[in-house]
This record gives sequence, C-alpha cells and structure tokens, in this order.
Amino acid sequence: MPSPADQLEALAQSTNLDPLGSAFAEALDAQDPLRHFRDEFCYPTRAEDTTEDQLCTYLCGNSLGLQPKATKQYLLEELEIWAKRGVLGHHSHAYQRPWLTSDENVLQESARIVGCKLSEVAILNTLTVNIHFLFAAFYQPTPQRFKVIMEAKAFPSDRYAVESQIRWHGLDPAEALVTLAPREGEHCLRTEDILEAIEKEGSQTALVFFSGIQYYTGQLFDMKRITEAGHAQGSLVGFDLAHAVGNVPLYLHDWAVDFACWCTYKYLNSGPGGIAGIYVHEKYAQPDEERPRLAGWWSNQKATRFQMRDQLDPIQETAGYQVSNPNVFAMTSLLASLTVFGRTDMAALRRKSILLTGYLEYQLTRRPRLSGKGEGKSGGITIMTPSDPEARGCQLSLLLPAAAFRPVFAGLSEAGIVCDEREPNCIRVGPTPLYNSFQDVYRFVQVLDDLMAGQAA
Ligand SMILES: *Cc1c(COP(=O)(O)O)cnc(C)c1O
Repeated sequence: MPSPADQLEALAQSTNLDPLGSAFAEALDAQDPLRHFRDEFCYPTRAEDTTEDQLCTYLCGNSLGLQPKATKQYLLEELEIWAKRGVLGHHSHAYQRPWLTSDENVLQESARIVGCKLSEVAILNTLTVNIHFLFAAFYQPTPQRFKVIMEAKAFPSDRYAVESQIRWHGLDPAEALVTLAPREGEHCLRTEDILEAIEKEGSQTALVFFSGIQYYTGQLFDMKRITEAGHAQGSLVGFDLAHAVGNVPLYLHDWAVDFACWCTYKYLNSGPGGIAGIYVHEKYAQPDEERPRLAGWWSNQKATRFQMRDQLDPIQETAGYQVSNPNVFAMTSLLASLTVFGRTDMAALRRKSILLTGYLEYQLTRRPRLSGKGEGKSGGITIMTPSDPEARGCQLSLLLPAAAFRPVFAGLSEAGIVCDEREPNCIRVGPTPLYNSFQDVYRFVQVLDDLMAGQAA
C-alpha cells in the first residue's frame, strides 16, 4: 500500500492540481465513495441560535459524534409508543421494537464493528460503570498474581476506576498498579516497550488493561500483540475501546482478547451519555466461580426472567452481564446511528480515514508556517500522533507553541471550527470518515495557517 502522502501526490499529479490548494480538496471529495453519508447528519450552527444557518466545521467526533438525522424520528416513535401503549410497549410495538428485547436490535451491528460473535457482545450501562463490572469478574487478585498494567496517561476515569478496584480488594495501587510511560522525549509508547514490560512483570500480572486508541495522543496500540504477550504470561487482557470503536477495524474474537468495553457517543454517534457496550470472549460464556459476575434480573435468561424465581437462571453469553432493564431511549438512539453504519463497513471507513487523516497530516507538514520550517518562525506544530497510519486512527493530536495556543484555539472557535483542547497546549482534531469531508480538513488547516501567521507577526 503506498503511503497516504504518496497517494495524495499521485492524485495531485494526475489531476494537475496543487496538493495544498482548495481545488484539490474538492477533487478528493468528488472521488470519495462515502461522501453521501455527510447528508445523514446534523451539523451544529456557529451561533447558539439554532436558526443561524452558518454551519460549523465539526472535527470533534472523537469527543461527541454528530447527531444522525434518523435519530429524532426513532426517538419520537418511542415517545409515541410510550404515550399510546404505556407498559404494553414492552411486548407490542408498532415499529417492531418491543422494549423487552430492545438490546437485540443493536447486537449484530455492534458485533460487526468490534469483530466478534453475536453471543460475545452486550449493550448496557455506561463505559466507566462497565469497567467496574468487568473488573468485578476479571480482576481476581491473588497474593502471587495481583498487578494491573495500564498506560501511565490513561483516560483519568479509567485510572480512577482501576485504582478504586485495587483498593476495593484491600490492595495498594502503589504496589499493584504498573503504569507504562513513553520514553523520555517521546509522546507515544513503543510496542516493544509495552511487550517487554508485560514480560518483565510476568506471572505477577492479573490483568493487562489498555486502551485501544490513546485518547490524548491518538496512538493505536497493537492489540493483537499485547493480547498475545499478556496471555504468554498467563495474564488476562482487556481493552477500553472508547476511541477505537467505529474508528478502526477491530477483531476482538480473532485476537482472543478476554474482554473489552466502549462508549457509543464518540465515533458511534449515539448521543451524549449514550448506552455503552462490552465484549467478553465466548470462553467465559458461563459464569463460573473463578469469575463471579454481578447479577440482576436482566442477567437471567429471557425465557424464565418473568417467572420471578429466587434462583438466577443466568444467560450463558455476554448478555448475562446485564443487570438492569436498559434505557430504551438510549438504546434506540444507538440503533438509529448503527443503521447508518449498517450501510457501509469498517474496511471502507478505514480506507477513507487513512486518506483523510493522511491529507490532514500532509497539509500540516507541508505548509511552511505549520511545519515550523517557514522563515522567521520560532517553531511550528508538533504532531504527537504516530505518523504510521497503522499506529493511529483518525485523530491527530497537535502540540502548539505555548504562546500561540490560547489565541489560536480562540481563533479556531471564532471561525466556527469545533475541535477540542487539552491542557496545556494540545488540540485534538478528529476528522471522522463517516461525515467529514476533505474540504472540512482543508478549511481547518487554512484557518489554522492564517492564525499562526498572525502569531508570527
Ligand atoms: C470517553 C472516555 C471515557 C468516558 O467515560 P464515561 O463512563 O462514558 O463517562 C472513559 N474512558 C475513556 C478511555 C474514554 O475515552
């Protein structure tokens, strides 16, 4: 596969266009086989006034995905059923989505997106809650094997959850938590260093718990090799896929990952606080003493759930991790968004994504002011995210010169560009292949370039 930069240059040559110009962005959009998906989404307007018709350039799908146009109708239908049928909506539903089995409508597409069997996926709760649920089953420390290995700069919620799990077992995170940091002067972890650390901690490690994609740097970890390395030491391996799901192809079953969890409001566009997902490998389908699951009535087999027995009749698949009846509005909102995913697949999305993010990187590294190679400039932008497309998803994390950060970020916002900031001087830009265009990326880079020019003056 030629690199994205080579692909772009070949295209620029064949179209006789300047790869840094706006006409080239238009040409890239014109040949994008996924461009029609753009019409499936609602775009925020630049002012709070929702009648304002100037639309934002939205590059923040890594934080909250846009609303699919289909969502409103789906939710209105649920409100209608609730209004007209009340409790009967659990069984009889004019739109064929009886609430009792609302989760079944989203399982197939979820399994397809994370690369697992239907029986290995469940949709329930929210992400951090699911970390706790999964740890309740999979983190069973013994005096010999008690450590958890994770990234040093994991998303804070994951860190807090894991530390609290360790304490909940009466252990001290100072001893039981092993965190892996990049080498001095580097932004990302090297795979070799991760594998070596897993080997070094060896049989003391109960769990390796990593993110699939690092939320801050955008680094995509080699989940297959991390899983193999953990298993070679007899450890269990789980992933938080918050930034990976719907962003990169995943093969959880084939990689033999033990468990994983994700939220659905980032790249899966289910809406703020949306319902979350988990994967548990089928070898753990039956609850056992080694891995006691937390339970509730929704852990019970559907066939006997309403017999209201004293004894749980557990679902012998990942769905058995459910405890409560799920929020139907959240489930339906996810369903609406997954119907959009259902019309394409992760391979097609990834193909576009590699080119789209490659185009962003190309612009950032070829424009003199941005790359820091321009005249009379103290320093340009540093891309923290790996340059290897295989080691990243769609997001690039940019470090701005400290003095430029505040004014430049304010300038982006003023220009109606939505991306997000992380202290002290990082901007995360997530062009998502489902609804972002090459012209979105062009506009971002052009505005950024102009703003940096103002800083240099
Ligand atoms: C977004 C994100 C979360 C958010 O957790 P919630 O429980 O959904 O509030 C947690 N962990 C990671 C890695 C995330 O990216």
